[in-house]
Amino acid sequence: MLCVELCPADALAADSEGYPVLRDAVRCMACVGCMAVCVPSAIRVTSEWVCEGM
Ligand code: SF4
Repeated sequence: MLCVELCPADALAADSEGYPVLRDAVRCMACVGCMAVCVPSAIRVTSEWVCEGM
């Protein structure tokens, strides 16, 4: 998954079904890179990191 691979903070991980999950919110730098590469727009970075299911 591109968002997991590209996260510079290693804040994301893939769950057992292959969906992105926030592994460690403290690590997130809010760079919005995961949003930029998410084709179905399933990730929104807000004041509280939100990953919506695809
Ligand atoms: S916004 Fe956070 S979770 Fe998304 S790519 Fe950047 S550091 Fe990683």
